[in-house]
Amino acid sequence: MTATAPRQEQLWSRCAGCASLLYRKRLRRNLDVCPECGEHARLGAPERLRQLVDPGSLRLLPDRLPEADPLDFVDALPYPHRLTGARASTGLAEGVVCATATIGGHPVVLAVMDFRFLGGSLGCAVGELITRAAERALDDRTPLVLITASGGARMQEGALSLMQMATVSQAIAALREAGLLTVSVLTDPTYGGVAASFATNTDLVLAESGARMGFAGPRVIRQITGRALPEGFQTADFLLEHGQVDMVVQRRSLRGRLTALLAATHAGRPARPAVPRQEPASHRERLADDGAVVAQPPDPAAEKDAGTPAVRDAWDTVRLARHPGRPTTLDYLDSVFDGFVELHGDRLGADCPAIVGGVARLAGRHVMVIGHQKGHTTAELVARNFGMASPAGHRKALRLMRLAARLGLPVVTLVDTPGADPGVSAEEQGQAAAIAENILTLTVLPTPVLAVITGEGGSGGALALAVADRVLMLENAVYSVISPEGCAAILWPDRSAAPQAARALRLTAPDLRRLGVVDEVVPEPSSAAHDDPAETAHRLRAALLANLLPLLDVPPAMLVRLRRQRFRRFGANRVGARAGLR
Ligand SMILES: [Zn+2]
Repeated sequence: MTATAPRQEQLWSRCAGCASLLYRKRLRRNLDVCPECGEHARLGAPERLRQLVDPGSLRLLPDRLPEADPLDFVDALPYPHRLTGARASTGLAEGVVCATATIGGHPVVLAVMDFRFLGGSLGCAVGELITRAAERALDDRTPLVLITASGGARMQEGALSLMQMATVSQAIAALREAGLLTVSVLTDPTYGGVAASFATNTDLVLAESGARMGFAGPRVIRQITGRALPEGFQTADFLLEHGQVDMVVQRRSLRGRLTALLAATHAGRPARPAVPRQEPASHRERLADDGAVVAQPPDPAAEKDAGTPAVRDAWDTVRLARHPGRPTTLDYLDSVFDGFVELHGDRLGADCPAIVGGVARLAGRHVMVIGHQKGHTTAELVARNFGMASPAGHRKALRLMRLAARLGLPVVTLVDTPGADPGVSAEEQGQAAAIAENILTLTVLPTPVLAVITGEGGSGGALALAVADRVLMLENAVYSVISPEGCAAILWPDRSAAPQAARALRLTAPDLRRLGVVDEVVPEPSSAAHDDPAETAHRLRAALLANLLPLLDVPPAMLVRLRRQRFRRFGANRVGARAGLR
């Protein structure tokens, strides 16, 4: 894409995407997005800031630095002449504009690169200005938002420009340590040293629609490989598909998306809103949307789970847990939570559709929700790999868990998987190690973790999301080391013994409650969850709140200690005492 760069006096400009001749004012009103084809024209930093920040909130940070030509670099022109020319044509002092502002009422520090200024190249001054912006964010304890547009390092400053990748990254690391959110928004184009540092080592990476990002540019790759590049190579959608970015955002939605993300992450530990005092977790209370405690009549179903054996046969429960109408994680995100913003990708190469995750609100409190996603139709199930996560899915979950901990957000997981993806490529990509890393990380994650087995809790793939402070289970969910069919095939003559195996495995919620694997059974409506999803959602929400709120007041170090104790108690000598199921 070669963006048209119209001068002020031009009334018309030609779209780089569809070649339509567009009235300049109309184009600008449309945020420089072609109304005909949706092409996102490149924006200079001042216009970008104008589009993103709240009116009247912008305060530019100092942009003057001592003149630097460390190498006395001369190509066709001396470097200082190129700088002078760039300043004259852009009206900017350097290739980045930094400012404080608010976006949707949330204070931020912004650094916005301008591709018009020597290709947005990263030199010592640009690196210094972005680093100062990051340091300002640290001082102010506000998030940092970077808008990138760059061809890479600035050649005229040699290895010193390369060093800027480390300088800025170090400043971003300090924000991470402080639990402050960093966001980068990739705009077209973002390449080389910028792509390989602060454009991608932030907490969240958004790609503007139509942006391209990569380490090496397409021309270089074509020259070196001698091969044609795949369709859409390095475009925003390609990046999303390959797990490199959290989301692709249309320009008109960018402000709203940033506002939602800033709102979610402001809610973390540094300034958590006061939790209304209430008695410790009770089934008889739930929080209304406004946070007020509302009395609820005792729930007979919740009471009965204490001792009464399950009325339902275990095999029938297995069938209910697998029912195609059973609410999925995305259903609960819609019915139990508000304002879900999905985050994608493992940053390594893929975005697994069997795991969904992102920030959402639970009764006004921001949480990170991560869950397996199945589907209701065959097509949905196939698209989601039947809720069987690949290593990329586990790594996405891991990334989001760690992000939540850094930002002080509690983690809520919704477990519904037959098991981890057992395919060849999953093995090649290290499925076992990916699950192992999640389990390990969850045992020490310094933020509240609440897990709910909502459908099938299949072996290690389930546990990869279920090492938690509190583990809840819907009444007709199952949780097991192996599927009944798999167990029957190994220990019985054949798979037809699955119903017997289901009974023997003690995989129902009441059984697991007695074994101490599960802390609380969430009762389903009289028939089952799929017959009354709204009532199921209502009950799940109440249970989540009752269990989560007390955890919010526990210091992270103590949470981790208690969580470790919780899982330590499953040692042989400890469980022996609680047998007596038969
Ligand atoms: Zn167009």
